[in-house]
Amino acid sequence: MDFMDKMSEWAQKISDKTNEVVEIGKLHASNFSKNEKANELKKQIGEICFSKYRAGDELDPEIENLCAEIKKLKGQIAENERTIRRMKETANGTVDMAAAGFCPYCGADLAKDARFCARCGKEIVR
Ligand SMILES: [Zn+2]
Repeated sequence: MDFMDKMSEWAQKISDKTNEVVEIGKLHASNFSKNEKANELKKQIGEICFSKYRAGDELDPEIENLCAEIKKLKGQIAENERTIRRMKETANGTVDMAAAGFCPYCGADLAKDARFCARCGKEIVR
C-alpha cells in the first residue's frame, strides 16, 4: 500500500467515524424527544385518572391515594391563594376586608352580605 492509499484509507476512517458520531447525536436527540413525548403521555394518563377520581369513578387504590394527595395539595394551594389575597388587601390598606369577602377579625371567608362571621361569630360592620 503506497502513501496515497494509506492517506485515502485514513480519510475514509475519519469520515466513517464522523458519520458515526453524527448518527449517535441524532439517536440521542431522537431519544430525548421520545422521552419528552412519553412523559407528556404519562401526564395525560394522570389527568384522565384524576378526572375519573373527581367524577367519583372507582379506581385502583394506589391511584386513588395519589389522587387524594393531589386533591389535598389543590386545597392547600387554594387556601394559600386566599391568604395571599387577604394579605395583599390588608397591606395596601385601601380595601375593606369585609368588602373583599373576609372576616376582619379571623380572616375566614364571608358569605356575601353576612352580618356575622360563621367562624368567630363577630359582627361584620360594613
Ligand atoms: Zn371571623
